[in-house]
Amino acid sequence: MADTKKKVAPKKEFDPKDLCYSKKSGWSEITEKNLKEIMDFAGGYKEFLTKAKTEREAVKTIYEQAKAKGYKCICEATAKDKKIFINFDNVACVLAEINDTSFKNGWLMVGSHIDTPRLDLKGYPLYEKEDMAYFKTHYYGGIKKYQWVTRPLALHGVVVKEDGTTVDIVIGEDDNDPVFTVNDLLIHLAQEQMEKSARKVIEGENLNILIGSIPYKFKYDKDSVKLAILDMLYKKYGFKEEDFVSAELQVVPAGKARDVGLDRSFVGSHGQDDRICAYCAMQAIFDSGKSNQNKIAMFFDKEEIGSKGNAGANSNILERAVNKLINLYGKGDYNTLINSLADSKFLSSDVNAGIEPEWAGVFEPMNAGKVGWGVCLTKFTGAGGKGNSNEAHAEFVAKCRAAFNKDNARWQTAELGKVDCGGGGTIAMFIAEYGMDVLDVGTAILSMHSPFEVSSKADLYNTYLAYRAFYKYL
Ligand code: MN
Ligand code: MN
Repeated sequence: MADTKKKVAPKKEFDPKDLCYSKKSGWSEITEKNLKEIMDFAGGYKEFLTKAKTEREAVKTIYEQAKAKGYKCICEATAKDKKIFINFDNVACVLAEINDTSFKNGWLMVGSHIDTPRLDLKGYPLYEKEDMAYFKTHYYGGIKKYQWVTRPLALHGVVVKEDGTTVDIVIGEDDNDPVFTVNDLLIHLAQEQMEKSARKVIEGENLNILIGSIPYKFKYDKDSVKLAILDMLYKKYGFKEEDFVSAELQVVPAGKARDVGLDRSFVGSHGQDDRICAYCAMQAIFDSGKSNQNKIAMFFDKEEIGSKGNAGANSNILERAVNKLINLYGKGDYNTLINSLADSKFLSSDVNAGIEPEWAGVFEPMNAGKVGWGVCLTKFTGAGGKGNSNEAHAEFVAKCRAAFNKDNARWQTAELGKVDCGGGGTIAMFIAEYGMDVLDVGTAILSMHSPFEVSSKADLYNTYLAYRAFYKYL
Protein backbone atom coordinates (compact mmCIF):
# COMPACT_ATOMS: atom_id res chain seq x y z
CA MET A 1 0.00 0.00 0.00
CA ALA A 2 1.18 3.44 -0.87
CA ASP A 3 1.91 5.99 1.77
CA THR A 4 -0.92 8.49 1.55
CA LYS A 5 0.85 11.16 3.51
CA LYS A 6 2.44 13.38 0.88
CA LYS A 7 5.80 14.80 1.75
CA VAL A 8 5.70 18.50 1.00
CA ALA A 9 9.00 20.22 0.40
CA PRO A 10 9.46 23.15 2.75
CA LYS A 11 8.50 26.32 0.94
CA LYS A 12 11.51 28.46 0.10
CA GLU A 13 11.29 31.70 1.94
CA PHE A 14 11.00 34.78 -0.25
CA ASP A 15 14.34 36.53 -0.44
CA PRO A 16 14.40 39.94 -2.12
CA LYS A 17 18.06 39.36 -2.92
CA ASP A 18 16.91 36.92 -5.61
CA LEU A 19 15.38 39.88 -7.40
CA CYS A 20 18.71 41.61 -7.84
CA TYR A 21 20.58 41.45 -11.15
CA SER A 22 24.12 40.36 -10.56
CA LYS A 23 26.84 40.35 -13.17
CA LYS A 24 29.14 37.37 -13.22
CA SER A 25 32.79 37.43 -14.25
CA GLY A 26 33.77 35.26 -17.15
CA TRP A 27 36.49 33.79 -14.94
CA SER A 28 34.30 32.86 -11.99
CA GLU A 29 32.77 29.42 -11.48
CA ILE A 30 34.37 27.90 -14.56
CA THR A 31 36.06 24.49 -14.82
CA GLU A 32 39.57 23.58 -15.96
CA LYS A 33 37.91 22.35 -19.15
CA ASN A 34 36.26 25.76 -19.70
CA LEU A 35 39.63 27.44 -19.11
CA LYS A 36 41.22 25.26 -21.78
CA GLU A 37 38.40 26.06 -24.24
CA ILE A 38 38.89 29.79 -23.62
CA MET A 39 42.67 29.58 -24.06
CA ASP A 40 42.39 27.43 -27.21
CA PHE A 41 39.86 29.81 -28.74
CA ALA A 42 42.19 32.73 -28.01
CA GLY A 43 45.00 30.85 -29.81
CA GLY A 44 43.02 30.85 -33.04
CA TYR A 45 42.11 34.47 -32.50
CA LYS A 46 45.74 35.55 -32.08
CA GLU A 47 46.65 33.80 -35.34
CA PHE A 48 43.81 35.65 -37.06
CA LEU A 49 45.01 39.03 -35.71
CA THR A 50 48.57 38.29 -36.81
CA LYS A 51 47.50 37.31 -40.34
CA ALA A 52 44.77 39.91 -40.88
CA LYS A 53 46.33 43.32 -40.26
CA THR A 54 44.43 45.19 -42.97
CA GLU A 55 40.88 44.85 -44.23
CA ARG A 56 42.24 43.21 -47.40
CA GLU A 57 44.18 40.66 -45.38
CA ALA A 58 41.08 40.09 -43.24
CA VAL A 59 38.95 39.35 -46.33
CA LYS A 60 41.60 36.90 -47.55
CA THR A 61 41.88 35.16 -44.17
CA ILE A 62 38.10 34.93 -43.74
CA TYR A 63 37.81 33.39 -47.23
CA GLU A 64 40.56 30.86 -46.48
CA GLN A 65 38.87 29.75 -43.26
CA ALA A 66 35.41 29.72 -44.87
CA LYS A 67 36.62 27.59 -47.80
CA ALA A 68 37.88 25.02 -45.30
CA LYS A 69 34.35 24.96 -43.81
CA GLY A 70 32.74 24.31 -47.21
CA TYR A 71 31.87 27.88 -48.24
CA LYS A 72 31.96 28.69 -51.94
CA CYS A 73 32.55 32.05 -53.59
CA ILE A 74 29.31 33.31 -55.13
CA CYS A 75 31.32 33.83 -58.34
CA GLU A 76 31.35 30.05 -58.85
CA ALA A 77 28.35 28.92 -56.75
CA THR A 78 25.06 27.44 -57.99
CA ALA A 79 21.64 27.11 -56.36
CA LYS A 80 22.80 23.75 -54.97
CA ASP A 81 25.36 25.44 -52.72
CA LYS A 82 24.19 26.55 -49.30
CA LYS A 83 27.30 28.17 -47.85
CA ILE A 84 28.31 31.26 -49.77
CA PHE A 85 31.14 33.78 -49.61
CA ILE A 86 30.79 37.20 -51.26
CA ASN A 87 33.75 39.50 -51.80
CA PHE A 88 33.24 43.25 -52.12
CA ASP A 89 36.26 44.94 -53.74
CA ASN A 90 38.62 42.85 -51.55
CA VAL A 91 37.88 45.11 -48.55
CA ALA A 92 34.53 43.83 -47.24
CA CYS A 93 32.88 40.43 -47.40
CA VAL A 94 29.91 38.27 -46.46
CA LEU A 95 29.52 34.71 -45.24
CA ALA A 96 26.00 33.39 -45.78
CA GLU A 97 24.37 30.11 -44.83
CA ILE A 98 21.16 29.48 -46.76
CA ASN A 99 18.63 27.17 -45.13
CA ASP A 100 15.35 28.52 -46.54
CA THR A 101 15.24 29.38 -50.24
CA SER A 102 11.72 30.83 -50.07
CA PHE A 103 13.25 33.92 -48.41
CA LYS A 104 9.84 34.58 -46.86
CA ASN A 105 11.43 35.22 -43.48
CA GLY A 106 14.17 37.55 -42.39
CA TRP A 107 17.84 36.76 -41.90
CA LEU A 108 19.90 36.38 -38.76
CA MET A 109 22.83 38.72 -39.24
CA VAL A 110 25.94 39.62 -37.31
CA GLY A 111 27.87 42.60 -38.70
CA SER A 112 31.34 43.74 -37.69
CA HIS A 113 34.00 45.93 -39.31
CA ILE A 114 37.47 44.89 -40.43
CA ASP A 115 39.10 48.30 -40.93
CA THR A 116 41.11 49.73 -38.08
CA PRO A 117 42.86 52.99 -37.12
CA ARG A 118 46.37 53.23 -38.60
CA LEU A 119 48.67 55.41 -40.72
CA ASP A 120 48.11 55.38 -44.50
CA LEU A 121 50.79 56.45 -46.99
CA LYS A 122 49.92 59.57 -48.95
CA GLY A 123 49.61 59.44 -52.75
CA TYR A 124 52.99 61.16 -53.21
CA PRO A 125 54.75 59.99 -50.08
CA LEU A 126 58.49 59.69 -50.68
CA TYR A 127 60.88 62.52 -49.74
CA GLU A 128 64.36 63.12 -48.46
CA LYS A 129 65.57 65.46 -45.70
CA GLU A 130 69.01 65.64 -44.07
CA ASP A 131 70.07 62.73 -46.31
CA MET A 132 67.39 60.45 -44.86
CA ALA A 133 64.34 59.20 -46.77
CA TYR A 134 60.80 59.16 -45.38
CA PHE A 135 57.23 58.27 -46.33
CA LYS A 136 54.53 60.84 -45.57
CA THR A 137 51.35 59.45 -44.01
CA HIS A 138 47.81 60.56 -43.34
CA TYR A 139 46.28 58.85 -40.33
CA TYR A 140 43.04 56.88 -40.71
CA GLY A 141 40.44 56.93 -37.94
CA GLY A 142 40.66 58.36 -34.44
CA ILE A 143 44.13 58.03 -32.95
CA LYS A 144 46.21 59.65 -30.22
CA LYS A 145 49.07 60.64 -32.52
CA TYR A 146 51.71 60.54 -29.78
CA GLN A 147 51.12 56.78 -29.39
CA TRP A 148 52.54 56.08 -32.86
CA VAL A 149 56.10 57.37 -32.45
CA THR A 150 59.22 55.38 -31.44
CA ARG A 151 57.84 51.93 -32.07
CA PRO A 152 58.55 49.28 -34.73
CA LEU A 153 56.09 49.57 -37.60
CA ALA A 154 55.32 47.37 -40.59
CA LEU A 155 54.04 48.25 -44.05
CA HIS A 156 51.09 46.28 -45.47
CA GLY A 157 49.06 46.75 -48.60
CA VAL A 158 48.82 46.77 -52.35
CA VAL A 159 50.20 48.80 -55.21
CA VAL A 160 48.07 48.63 -58.34
CA LYS A 161 50.03 49.48 -61.45
CA GLU A 162 48.70 51.27 -64.50
CA ASP A 163 48.24 47.96 -66.34
CA GLY A 164 46.02 46.71 -63.51
CA THR A 165 48.47 44.25 -61.99
CA THR A 166 48.56 44.25 -58.21
CA VAL A 167 51.68 44.01 -56.09
CA ASP A 168 51.09 42.70 -52.56
CA ILE A 169 53.39 44.13 -49.95
CA VAL A 170 54.14 43.04 -46.39
CA ILE A 171 57.39 44.36 -44.91
CA GLY A 172 58.25 44.23 -41.23
CA GLU A 173 56.61 41.01 -40.03
CA ASP A 174 59.24 38.36 -40.77
CA ASP A 175 62.11 38.18 -38.23
CA ASN A 176 64.51 38.95 -41.08
CA ASP A 177 62.53 41.94 -42.35
CA PRO A 178 63.46 45.51 -41.54
CA VAL A 179 60.85 47.58 -39.70
CA PHE A 180 60.02 51.29 -39.90
CA THR A 181 59.47 53.97 -37.29
CA VAL A 182 58.31 57.52 -36.61
CA ASN A 183 60.93 59.42 -34.62
CA ASP A 184 60.25 61.71 -31.68
CA LEU A 185 62.29 64.61 -30.30
CA LEU A 186 64.78 63.73 -27.58
CA ILE A 187 63.69 64.74 -24.07
CA HIS A 188 66.80 66.91 -23.65
CA LEU A 189 65.56 69.41 -26.20
CA ALA A 190 61.84 68.95 -25.71
CA GLN A 191 61.12 71.79 -23.26
CA GLU A 192 58.80 73.56 -25.67
CA GLN A 193 57.22 70.33 -26.97
CA MET A 194 56.47 69.14 -23.43
CA GLU A 195 54.32 72.23 -22.83
CA LYS A 196 52.02 71.39 -25.76
CA SER A 197 48.65 69.69 -25.40
CA ALA A 198 48.51 65.97 -26.15
CA ARG A 199 46.62 66.83 -29.33
CA LYS A 200 49.56 68.90 -30.59
CA VAL A 201 52.59 67.20 -29.08
CA ILE A 202 52.89 65.13 -32.26
CA GLU A 203 51.22 66.76 -35.26
CA GLY A 204 49.57 64.72 -38.01
CA GLU A 205 51.99 66.16 -40.56
CA ASN A 206 54.92 64.85 -38.48
CA LEU A 207 53.83 61.22 -38.65
CA ASN A 208 56.46 60.38 -41.25
CA ILE A 209 58.08 56.99 -41.57
CA LEU A 210 61.88 56.63 -41.66
CA ILE A 211 62.83 54.35 -44.54
CA GLY A 212 66.50 54.79 -45.48
CA SER A 213 69.78 56.71 -45.70
CA ILE A 214 72.16 55.06 -48.19
CA PRO A 215 72.62 57.23 -51.33
CA TYR A 216 72.30 55.90 -54.86
CA LYS A 217 75.68 54.41 -55.95
CA PHE A 218 77.06 55.55 -52.55
CA LYS A 219 77.33 59.15 -53.69
CA TYR A 220 75.42 61.95 -52.02
CA ASP A 221 73.70 64.23 -54.48
CA LYS A 222 70.31 65.94 -54.55
CA ASP A 223 67.70 63.31 -53.58
CA SER A 224 70.21 60.48 -53.92
CA VAL A 225 68.69 58.57 -50.98
CA LYS A 226 65.21 58.92 -52.42
CA LEU A 227 66.55 57.65 -55.77
CA ALA A 228 68.18 54.66 -54.07
CA ILE A 229 64.84 53.79 -52.42
CA LEU A 230 62.97 54.11 -55.74
CA ASP A 231 65.60 51.94 -57.40
CA MET A 232 65.23 49.32 -54.67
CA LEU A 233 61.41 49.33 -54.90
CA TYR A 234 61.54 49.01 -58.68
CA LYS A 235 64.00 46.12 -58.59
CA LYS A 236 62.14 44.25 -55.84
CA TYR A 237 58.48 45.04 -56.62
CA GLY A 238 58.51 46.53 -60.13
CA PHE A 239 56.73 49.79 -59.38
CA LYS A 240 57.58 53.46 -59.87
CA GLU A 241 56.92 56.63 -57.88
CA GLU A 242 53.71 57.41 -59.80
CA ASP A 243 52.32 54.01 -58.79
CA PHE A 244 51.96 55.20 -55.17
CA VAL A 245 48.93 57.16 -56.31
CA SER A 246 47.03 53.91 -56.92
CA ALA A 247 48.28 52.14 -53.83
CA GLU A 248 46.78 51.34 -50.45
CA LEU A 249 49.74 51.04 -48.12
CA GLN A 250 49.04 50.97 -44.42
CA VAL A 251 51.52 51.41 -41.60
CA VAL A 252 50.65 49.23 -38.61
CA PRO A 253 52.53 48.06 -35.51
CA ALA A 254 54.96 45.27 -36.43
CA GLY A 255 54.79 41.88 -34.76
CA LYS A 256 52.41 39.19 -33.61
CA ALA A 257 49.42 39.32 -31.30
CA ARG A 258 50.61 38.31 -27.83
CA ASP A 259 49.35 36.96 -24.54
CA VAL A 260 49.36 39.63 -21.85
CA GLY A 261 49.72 38.97 -18.13
CA LEU A 262 51.43 36.31 -16.03
CA ASP A 263 48.23 34.28 -16.15
CA ARG A 264 47.89 34.97 -19.89
CA SER A 265 44.31 36.13 -19.38
CA PHE A 266 44.54 38.94 -21.97
CA VAL A 267 45.35 39.31 -25.65
CA GLY A 268 47.42 42.33 -26.69
CA SER A 269 47.46 43.50 -30.31
CA HIS A 270 46.70 46.32 -32.66
CA GLY A 271 43.43 46.01 -34.58
CA GLN A 272 41.20 44.31 -32.01
CA ASP A 273 38.61 47.00 -32.71
CA ASP A 274 36.88 45.37 -34.44
CA ARG A 275 38.56 42.18 -35.52
CA ILE A 276 37.71 40.63 -32.14
CA CYS A 277 34.01 40.79 -33.05
CA ALA A 278 34.76 39.81 -36.66
CA TYR A 279 36.58 36.68 -35.52
CA CYS A 280 33.82 35.74 -33.05
CA ALA A 281 31.13 36.29 -35.70
CA MET A 282 32.99 34.09 -38.18
CA GLN A 283 33.48 31.25 -35.69
CA ALA A 284 29.88 31.62 -34.49
CA ILE A 285 28.37 31.21 -37.97
CA PHE A 286 30.68 28.22 -38.58
CA ASP A 287 29.60 26.52 -35.34
CA SER A 288 25.95 27.54 -35.11
CA GLY A 289 24.65 24.20 -36.36
CA LYS A 290 21.55 23.09 -38.23
CA SER A 291 18.80 25.62 -38.66
CA ASN A 292 15.92 26.47 -40.94
CA GLN A 293 16.86 30.15 -40.92
CA ASN A 294 19.17 32.04 -43.23
CA LYS A 295 22.28 33.45 -41.62
CA ILE A 296 24.78 36.12 -42.57
CA ALA A 297 28.04 37.30 -41.09
CA MET A 298 28.98 40.59 -42.73
CA PHE A 299 32.37 42.25 -42.48
CA PHE A 300 32.31 45.96 -43.36
CA ASP A 301 35.02 48.45 -44.27
CA LYS A 302 35.30 52.20 -43.48
CA GLU A 303 33.60 52.12 -40.06
CA GLU A 304 36.43 54.09 -38.50
CA ILE A 305 35.92 57.01 -40.89
CA GLY A 306 32.14 57.16 -40.85
CA SER A 307 31.00 54.01 -42.69
CA LYS A 308 30.83 55.89 -45.99
CA GLY A 309 32.08 54.59 -49.35
CA ASN A 310 30.74 51.62 -51.28
CA ALA A 311 32.03 49.05 -48.76
CA GLY A 312 30.86 50.88 -45.64
CA ALA A 313 27.68 50.14 -43.71
CA ASN A 314 26.30 53.57 -44.66
CA SER A 315 25.96 52.39 -48.26
CA ASN A 316 23.54 49.81 -49.65
CA ILE A 317 26.18 47.07 -49.45
CA LEU A 318 24.04 44.82 -47.24
CA GLU A 319 21.12 45.17 -49.64
CA ARG A 320 23.42 44.33 -52.55
CA ALA A 321 24.68 41.26 -50.70
CA VAL A 322 21.19 39.94 -49.96
CA ASN A 323 20.12 40.74 -53.53
CA LYS A 324 23.01 38.67 -54.91
CA LEU A 325 22.03 35.79 -52.63
CA ILE A 326 18.32 35.69 -53.42
CA ASN A 327 19.14 35.98 -57.13
CA LEU A 328 21.34 32.91 -56.87
CA TYR A 329 18.23 30.93 -55.84
CA GLY A 330 15.95 32.56 -58.41
CA LYS A 331 14.04 34.81 -55.99
CA GLY A 332 15.43 38.13 -57.06
CA ASP A 333 12.41 40.39 -56.91
CA TYR A 334 12.27 43.68 -55.04
CA ASN A 335 9.48 42.67 -52.65
CA THR A 336 11.28 39.55 -51.49
CA LEU A 337 14.47 41.53 -51.05
CA ILE A 338 13.06 44.44 -49.10
CA ASN A 339 10.71 42.34 -46.95
CA SER A 340 13.37 39.83 -45.99
CA LEU A 341 15.66 42.71 -45.01
CA ALA A 342 12.94 44.36 -42.92
CA ASP A 343 12.18 41.08 -41.13
CA SER A 344 15.84 40.45 -40.29
CA LYS A 345 17.52 40.53 -36.91
CA PHE A 346 20.94 42.11 -36.69
CA LEU A 347 23.66 42.19 -34.05
CA SER A 348 25.88 45.20 -34.61
CA SER A 349 29.05 43.63 -33.34
CA ASP A 350 31.55 46.26 -32.38
CA VAL A 351 33.77 46.75 -29.37
CA ASN A 352 32.93 48.79 -26.30
CA ALA A 353 35.15 50.54 -23.77
CA GLY A 354 36.24 48.49 -20.77
CA ILE A 355 36.56 50.35 -17.47
CA GLU A 356 40.16 51.57 -17.16
CA PRO A 357 40.75 51.66 -13.38
CA GLU A 358 43.36 54.43 -13.71
CA TRP A 359 40.82 56.60 -15.53
CA ALA A 360 37.73 55.45 -13.67
CA GLY A 361 36.36 59.01 -13.62
CA VAL A 362 35.02 58.87 -17.16
CA PHE A 363 33.02 55.69 -16.56
CA GLU A 364 29.76 55.12 -14.73
CA PRO A 365 30.65 51.84 -13.08
CA MET A 366 27.13 50.40 -12.82
CA ASN A 367 26.59 50.68 -16.56
CA ALA A 368 30.06 50.41 -18.04
CA GLY A 369 31.75 47.36 -19.51
CA LYS A 370 33.96 45.54 -17.04
CA VAL A 371 36.83 43.71 -18.69
CA GLY A 372 36.50 39.98 -18.06
CA TRP A 373 32.83 40.21 -17.19
CA GLY A 374 31.30 39.07 -20.44
CA VAL A 375 30.14 40.43 -23.76
CA CYS A 376 28.57 43.92 -23.67
CA LEU A 377 24.95 44.39 -24.53
CA THR A 378 24.47 48.03 -25.52
CA LYS A 379 20.89 49.16 -26.09
CA PHE A 380 21.98 52.53 -27.44
CA THR A 381 25.19 54.35 -28.31
CA GLY A 382 25.56 57.99 -29.36
CA ALA A 383 26.36 61.17 -27.49
CA GLY A 384 24.57 64.13 -25.91
CA GLY A 385 21.29 62.41 -24.99
CA LYS A 386 21.61 59.30 -27.18
CA GLY A 387 22.13 61.53 -30.23
CA ASN A 388 22.93 59.73 -33.47
CA SER A 389 22.12 56.31 -32.14
CA ASN A 390 19.94 53.40 -33.07
CA GLU A 391 18.19 52.43 -29.88
CA ALA A 392 17.22 48.75 -29.90
CA HIS A 393 13.62 47.91 -29.04
CA ALA A 394 13.05 46.32 -25.64
CA GLU A 395 11.35 43.32 -27.27
CA PHE A 396 14.45 42.53 -29.33
CA VAL A 397 16.79 43.03 -26.36
CA ALA A 398 14.68 40.53 -24.41
CA LYS A 399 14.98 37.91 -27.17
CA CYS A 400 18.75 38.35 -27.42
CA ARG A 401 19.21 38.22 -23.65
CA ALA A 402 17.16 35.03 -23.49
CA ALA A 403 19.31 33.44 -26.23
CA PHE A 404 22.56 34.37 -24.48
CA ASN A 405 21.28 32.99 -21.17
CA LYS A 406 20.27 29.73 -22.83
CA ASP A 407 23.89 28.97 -23.67
CA ASN A 408 25.27 30.54 -20.53
CA ALA A 409 27.11 33.23 -22.45
CA ARG A 410 28.11 35.77 -19.84
CA TRP A 411 26.96 39.27 -20.74
CA GLN A 412 26.74 42.67 -19.14
CA THR A 413 25.08 45.98 -19.98
CA ALA A 414 27.47 48.63 -21.18
CA GLU A 415 27.36 52.30 -22.07
CA LEU A 416 30.35 54.11 -23.53
CA GLY A 417 31.37 56.33 -20.61
CA LYS A 418 29.46 58.66 -18.31
CA VAL A 419 26.55 60.69 -19.64
CA ASP A 420 27.94 63.72 -21.52
CA CYS A 421 31.53 62.54 -21.19
CA GLY A 422 32.01 61.89 -24.90
CA GLY A 423 30.48 59.03 -26.84
CA GLY A 424 30.66 57.14 -30.07
CA GLY A 425 28.62 55.37 -32.68
CA THR A 426 28.51 52.08 -34.51
CA ILE A 427 27.02 50.80 -37.77
CA ALA A 428 23.73 50.01 -35.98
CA MET A 429 21.91 53.17 -37.11
CA PHE A 430 22.73 52.60 -40.79
CA ILE A 431 21.52 49.01 -40.75
CA ALA A 432 18.29 49.92 -38.94
CA GLU A 433 17.28 51.97 -42.00
CA TYR A 434 16.17 48.70 -43.63
CA GLY A 435 13.58 48.26 -40.91
CA MET A 436 15.22 45.37 -39.13
CA ASP A 437 15.85 45.04 -35.40
CA VAL A 438 19.42 45.97 -34.48
CA LEU A 439 21.25 45.61 -31.17
CA ASP A 440 24.87 46.47 -30.36
CA VAL A 441 26.67 43.49 -28.83
CA GLY A 442 30.46 43.42 -28.59
CA THR A 443 33.55 43.04 -26.46
CA ALA A 444 34.87 45.58 -23.95
CA ILE A 445 38.51 46.36 -24.61
CA LEU A 446 41.24 48.44 -23.02
CA SER A 447 43.36 51.11 -24.78
CA MET A 448 40.92 51.16 -27.70
CA HIS A 449 42.32 52.62 -30.97
CA SER A 450 45.88 52.37 -29.67
CA PRO A 451 48.74 50.45 -31.30
CA PHE A 452 48.34 47.79 -28.57
CA GLU A 453 44.75 47.18 -27.57
CA VAL A 454 44.03 44.70 -24.80
CA SER A 455 41.10 42.29 -24.53
CA SER A 456 40.15 39.63 -22.01
CA LYS A 457 40.17 36.06 -23.29
CA ALA A 458 37.06 35.36 -21.20
CA ASP A 459 35.24 38.19 -22.98
CA LEU A 460 36.46 36.98 -26.36
CA TYR A 461 35.01 33.54 -25.67
CA ASN A 462 31.73 34.87 -24.28
CA THR A 463 31.35 37.12 -27.33
CA TYR A 464 31.62 33.99 -29.48
CA LEU A 465 29.11 32.12 -27.29
CA ALA A 466 26.65 35.02 -27.49
CA TYR A 467 26.84 35.32 -31.30
CA ARG A 468 26.50 31.55 -31.65
CA ALA A 469 23.45 31.56 -29.34
CA PHE A 470 21.92 34.35 -31.47
CA TYR A 471 22.31 32.23 -34.62
CA LYS A 472 20.94 29.17 -32.77
CA TYR A 473 17.90 30.55 -30.96
CA LEU A 474 16.62 33.82 -32.46
MN1 MN B 1 34.77 49.56 -33.90
MN1 MN C 1 36.80 52.11 -33.53
